[in-house]
Amino acid sequence: MTPAAGLGGGPPHDGHSNALRYAGALGSMVRSRLLSGRPFFLAHAVTFGCNSRCRTCSYWKLTPRMKEDLTTAEVGSLLDEARAAGLRAYYLFGGEPLVRKDIGTLVSMAKARGFLTTMNTNGSLLAAKAPTLRDLDVAFVSLDYFNEYDDFIRGRPGTFQEVVRGIDRIREVAGTKVVLVTTISSMNLDAIEPMAEFAQAHGVMVSYNAVEPTLDFGLTSSENSPNFDYGLTHEQLASFYERLLAVKRRGLPLMETELVLRHFTEGRAWRCEFPKMFVYVAPDKKIYSCDYRYGYDLKQGSFEAYFASPQFRAHVLEAERCNRCIRTCVRGYSYSYDLLPRQLLGLVGEARTLFRPPVEEIHRAPAPLGGRVPA
Ligand code: SF4
Ligand code: SF4
Repeated sequence: MTPAAGLGGGPPHDGHSNALRYAGALGSMVRSRLLSGRPFFLAHAVTFGCNSRCRTCSYWKLTPRMKEDLTTAEVGSLLDEARAAGLRAYYLFGGEPLVRKDIGTLVSMAKARGFLTTMNTNGSLLAAKAPTLRDLDVAFVSLDYFNEYDDFIRGRPGTFQEVVRGIDRIREVAGTKVVLVTTISSMNLDAIEPMAEFAQAHGVMVSYNAVEPTLDFGLTSSENSPNFDYGLTHEQLASFYERLLAVKRRGLPLMETELVLRHFTEGRAWRCEFPKMFVYVAPDKKIYSCDYRYGYDLKQGSFEAYFASPQFRAHVLEAERCNRCIRTCVRGYSYSYDLLPRQLLGLVGEARTLFRPPVEEIHRAPAPLGGRVPA
């Protein structure tokens, strides 16, 4: 049993082998798809705090609200409630999750309860915290450029080197699978192809986002959203998908399947299944819809009550017709949920790459040369 098991009043669920946890997550997805239509992935923003100042983000301004973060024991209770409601995968994000002192304990508590564990991180503290993250299955690590120009984009000197050290260390110490996440904006349009080459050279996968000036749901304005300064134009966005498709067809290690990328280039409509897969819980234990239009307070209610509510049903129905996301991951998740054969075939290939043998067997090509001069 890991030391953290049982924290938060929950029973110790030790003995969950990796195979059992993966099977549990897959089983909960199938149950959702065939029977319940309820989420199986708990996406938990574990803190409002962040130690970066990324130019394309304003979340770091919420750092003073860290005092509202759940305690270790409260996260334990949240995990117990989630497990009782049928959720079987745990995605930690923030802010920056690694700024929490108890982050390793949170991951271990989730694994001990049988959850698949995944985390989104800016990577700055990954090398230092790797020894505490032995129970982390997959790390999604932000990296927006292939040299120190990344420091300029992320607003934190030293970020690029920290990430390079961090991805090596977490794989070595914890055996965690790593996926780089590159956010393309007007600052790094030239990074699309080199970042895929960089990922291949380092033996990890890469997934892409684009900064979305078009997807602000009316909640932001040019005064408070950096998306207006750095977001892609419609033409740049169209070219973004075309270039990703070309990179994918070169056999570079993208998480995106060819089907998803091709459909973006063709401008095809699709059905968003996101709310049936993920439930998003903020650091103060409120559930938000994907567009932040409403919140449900889990401190006053329960997952069960939320999933049975008209609010949840309305969100599911609206999502099916939404089509607003330009994110490849949301479309990919939805295609997987809908069991599209070509998507599933593509995923088998991505899984083979993700779970291939450890670092020493990977051929290390030189990282891409050139690029922008760091500011
Ligand atoms: S690390 Fe994440 S939360 Fe922090 S400023 Fe950057 S994008 Fe925002
Ligand atoms: S496409 Fe789905 S995830 Fe994206 S905004 Fe619409 S409902 Fe939300």
